[in-house]
Amino acid sequence: MSAQVAPESPSDERPENVDPEAQRQAVAPRRPGQLIFAGPRRAKPPRHLADLTVAERREAVAALGEKPFRADQLSRHYFDRLISDPEQMPDLSQKLRDKLGPELLPQLLTSVRDLACDGGKTHKTVWKAFDGVLFESVLMRYPDRVTMCVSSQAGCGMNCPFCATGQAGLTRNLSTAEIVEQVAAGQRALNRGDIAGGPGRVSNIVFMGMGEPLANYKAVLGAVRRITEPSPSGLGISQRGVTVSTVGLVPAIQKLTDEGLSVRLAVSLHAPDDELRDTLVPINTRWKVREVLDAAFGYARKSGRRVSIEYALIKDVNDHAWRADLLGKLLKGKLVHVNLIPLNPTPGSKWTASRPEDEREFVRRLEAHGVAVTVRDTRGREIDGACGQLAAATNA
Ligand code: SAH
Repeated sequence: MSAQVAPESPSDERPENVDPEAQRQAVAPRRPGQLIFAGPRRAKPPRHLADLTVAERREAVAALGEKPFRADQLSRHYFDRLISDPEQMPDLSQKLRDKLGPELLPQLLTSVRDLACDGGKTHKTVWKAFDGVLFESVLMRYPDRVTMCVSSQAGCGMNCPFCATGQAGLTRNLSTAEIVEQVAAGQRALNRGDIAGGPGRVSNIVFMGMGEPLANYKAVLGAVRRITEPSPSGLGISQRGVTVSTVGLVPAIQKLTDEGLSVRLAVSLHAPDDELRDTLVPINTRWKVREVLDAAFGYARKSGRRVSIEYALIKDVNDHAWRADLLGKLLKGKLVHVNLIPLNPTPGSKWTASRPEDEREFVRRLEAHGVAVTVRDTRGREIDGACGQLAAATNA
């Protein structure tokens, strides 16, 4: 498939056109003598309604020579009814459909695979973008909520050795609309009755799919706004139901703090000491545990929301009792909550989940420090849809 070149958009929510190799190199320590191959710059995905604010949509329609209220009609179809096929918009003439459809509602994603488990209550979808790039989203239905785990990048440049996504590196940033479309598609599947349990509403969004959301800040923030703004601006999901998960890009956490949102922040810590974290989360060589936690505490103070500290328990690597005590000391009295994730297997990894008795002791010690802790109920392992397992080859 040949890459399309999208027209420049006035929105500042388009993805930065990253050079993925440069971003990966910024994280992975370079061995002496290692060559750097700068990757080709990639074309941006075509502009879509969901990339734009309401005002920008009106401007875009006006720039095409049509009345600005046409943008509001399109917005209601897309955000209220989740329709993106102009042929299903009876209040627009055929001429307008033919003109505005391709300009503002291009088809961004095609489902290439849908895998289900848990009796049809967990679905992983592999998406193909306009340029053939692949990425994944996971929908999980619980008795009281429907959570969608969305990707913010195709691949990831953070290089964490226990995560399958990190192994292939970063292909490109997703656009705001490519992120929003994952959520819209999940809601459409629920409306169609494709998810076991009957119709329902997506209530929670976690940026825990492929990619490091804060390394694609503008597009992710645009997606958070589009997902949470009321219709016809956005999908109207509560900010409190959205979680942005990060390896700990400190300046970006501070920037997010200043936005004044009430989304939840999750920090993938995985080790309480710099020596180990330098190896498990390589960006730690840039921002240390202390700095990451201070930024996280700052976010908690400003948002009033408990920050989730993610900790994948890896047998004999980070599950020692003394590490639980150290973590407990660092977090004592703070507005946080530890989410322990039994390590999910990834191809070629020598690591496995902790022994049950070590997991129990880890929990006990954290609780002894007065720190709230839960062990994540992992969904989708058998379809490689669980945390750290999303690894769709990123080029078709
Ligand atoms: N880059 C962001 C978003 C990805 S979220 C971040 O790291 O936070 C995915 C979550 O699953 C992160 O907490 C990540 O550390 C965790 N994870 C990665 N690989 C895992 C694995 N093999 N088993 C369990 N959790 C894993």
